[in-house]
Amino acid sequence: MQYWKKLTKSEIKQRVDAALSQNVDYHERTILGIPASHLDENVFNMDTGYLNNAPFLKAMIDNPNHIGCHTMGESEPFFAGTQKLEEELISIVAEDILKCPHGEYDGYVASGGTEANIQAIWIYRNQFKKLFDAKYDEMCILCTEDSHYSMPKAGNVLNLDVKYVPVADDTREIIPDALDQVIEAAKIEGKKYFIVVANMMTTMFGSVDSVNTYTDALTDANVKFKVHLDGAYGGFVYPFSTDNDEMTFQNPMVSSVTLDAHKMVQAPFGTGIFIARKGLIDNVFTDEAQYVSGLDATLIGSRSGANAIAVWMILQTYGPHDWFEKIHILNYRTTWLCNQLKEMKVDFYRHPSSNIVAIRGKHIKPELARKFGLVPDSHNKKPNWYKIVLMEHVHIDHLMPFVDELKESLWI
Ligand SMILES: *Cc1c(COP(=O)(O)O)cnc(C)c1O
Repeated sequence: MQYWKKLTKSEIKQRVDAALSQNVDYHERTILGIPASHLDENVFNMDTGYLNNAPFLKAMIDNPNHIGCHTMGESEPFFAGTQKLEEELISIVAEDILKCPHGEYDGYVASGGTEANIQAIWIYRNQFKKLFDAKYDEMCILCTEDSHYSMPKAGNVLNLDVKYVPVADDTREIIPDALDQVIEAAKIEGKKYFIVVANMMTTMFGSVDSVNTYTDALTDANVKFKVHLDGAYGGFVYPFSTDNDEMTFQNPMVSSVTLDAHKMVQAPFGTGIFIARKGLIDNVFTDEAQYVSGLDATLIGSRSGANAIAVWMILQTYGPHDWFEKIHILNYRTTWLCNQLKEMKVDFYRHPSSNIVAIRGKHIKPELARKFGLVPDSHNKKPNWYKIVLMEHVHIDHLMPFVDELKESLWI
């Protein structure tokens, strides 16, 4: 672990205070040229006594703007202090969690997983265009039918077709023959460039795609491709619950990764994380962003520095070992639930490294789903699956009443 160490509350407070003090202070210095300021004092409580023990709220009040990407070139000098903390956060995620070689990456805190996925697809679209003069209708996004809807959203925004690979109904794994057929059909349509988005835990099932299945098939098909990993849900889970390096930067086939700190990390919304191998992000520089120091290679533009600080604070509070333990506790609870379901002969899907359990719809009465807040795979038609996500607040004591009621409803 290069960057990631457990820090005490007072160490964290000191680091955040020091970072904020290196940002511009609108009260101390006359700053005339930027359309930014601290939060409105007429509305928000600026009482220093209370803010002094709440570094995140203090950062919110100071309201630094983290516009741009801070792992490269210059950045806005007004917010250099807290942008440094974001750079450190990106280092923790890229090097310590995703095993990228030192400094060989760029990344930033995006608005969410949706933005980070679009950012990745945008980069590869432009790279294929730049390197091979590829036309948009010669490219496509390749993902599975369990992939998140941000892929068709990205296809729509970026003017790219999306090709879906079927997965097996019980294992949620890519069917290799079906993948070959999808690639073949796409080639016949004129597709030569494939942007793969592989799932590092899907939203509905927690299932994990095999990167090798994709890369073997595309290599055999003799087409150009790039691989992005969608770890919006699983990015802070899977790397801690598996020994497999296929879904890290140790795998040379992996070019970029999305993670969401506002899911499992319980950070404020607006904390997607995008990481790509160094240089790739240069494909989406907006040269016209001349008023931004260092230009802008992100999709979002202005964004909250306090959000980046919140994620940094959470990871530093745990450190790598406590985080590992936390994930394993959640997986222990998941296993407990799965054992109960097995005993009742209820069909379900669970990936062994995951804290999501999807139960076949046939076992679940709608009243039971409503009462316990289970989420269906579809709100429009009769659900095939309902999922339970073993979050921090979902203890075995909360699962027990559900298991009891499920047992009763099965016997009717
Ligand atoms: C949640 C999720 C997303 C989208 O993330 P947002 O933060 O809601 O934009 C993308 N992919 C997967 C797998 C997800 O679970």
